[in-house]
Amino acid sequence: MQERLTLLEREALARIDAARDEKELDLVRVGILGKKGQLTEVLKGLGHLPDEQRRTVGQLANELKNKLQSRLDERRELLRSESLDRSLAGTVDLTLPGHPLPQGSIHPINRVFEEICEFFHGMGFEVVEGPELETDHYNFEALNMPDYHPARDSQDSFYVDDRSSAGGDRPAEWLLRTHTSNVQVRVMEKRQPPLRVIAPGRVYRRDNDPTHSPMFQQIEGFLVDRVVTFGNLKWILTEFVRHMFGEARRVRFRPSFFPFTEPSAEVDMSCPFCDQKGECRVCRGGWMEILGSGMIHPNVFKSAGYDPEQCSGFAFGMGVDRITMLKYRISNIRWLFENDARFLRQC
Ligand SMILES: [Zn+2]
Repeated sequence: MQERLTLLEREALARIDAARDEKELDLVRVGILGKKGQLTEVLKGLGHLPDEQRRTVGQLANELKNKLQSRLDERRELLRSESLDRSLAGTVDLTLPGHPLPQGSIHPINRVFEEICEFFHGMGFEVVEGPELETDHYNFEALNMPDYHPARDSQDSFYVDDRSSAGGDRPAEWLLRTHTSNVQVRVMEKRQPPLRVIAPGRVYRRDNDPTHSPMFQQIEGFLVDRVVTFGNLKWILTEFVRHMFGEARRVRFRPSFFPFTEPSAEVDMSCPFCDQKGECRVCRGGWMEILGSGMIHPNVFKSAGYDPEQCSGFAFGMGVDRITMLKYRISNIRWLFENDARFLRQC
């Protein structure tokens, strides 16, 4: 019996080593270990042996089974890797460097948004977002822009209701917000000072030329406390401009008018392109307008239910597209929206 096992082992190993592919190897396996395989038959026949012999032969047969099984596994692994090598040979050179995948980047507008928000976050401001579809009340009325204010003209704003179909001069209720200042009254209505908020987002106006787009991005900021001065406003905006455009920038506040602030000021910075010499095409006489600001108008406080005698504050607003264009020296606003990969790759 033992001799039979030794013979079977020698023969089986030779057949395993001779198999040329996985298919052949599988046939060999079935012939030895399958239901009617040679070794299986031996194991089946153990029952007829006397007790003592059965134990010795049974042990040997099981050891042989394990040995053959592991030899089969090794051979299969070898055949598999050989066949992979064969199929790759001549078609692929694995030593060649790979093709680099194009790498995406953050859109310049988002990058500037992040940078502005980070700066104000460091100054203790929180970010609050508001709705893009807004009522007349929050977009105009509560910001001291009454019914007859020219900015309400449908030439400038996208009204959702048709004025003419609403009947006569009755103002339409809903429009796409024309600035992110709508967040101002919404926040003040719900909360008490002190408040430090910036409101980033999309705004909409009927404008379309190389420097204006009907949809653009704005960040509005406001600070309300018991005593806030114009000096606080000047300091924080000067710090901001220098953070965005470099320490060397000079900043000037030019008296202006906005309905929701009094006094109001446009903020100009010294031109970073010609270094204030006034020799480039971007600036006017060495200065460029960068944002609008002012002290919050008492009427705005009243709309929110605040007592203007008990609090004061400032507000400012800026076009993120404009700041992006200045920062990256982009001459046409459309490049920011067209998603031309050749343009985006340069940013
Ligand atoms: Zn200039």
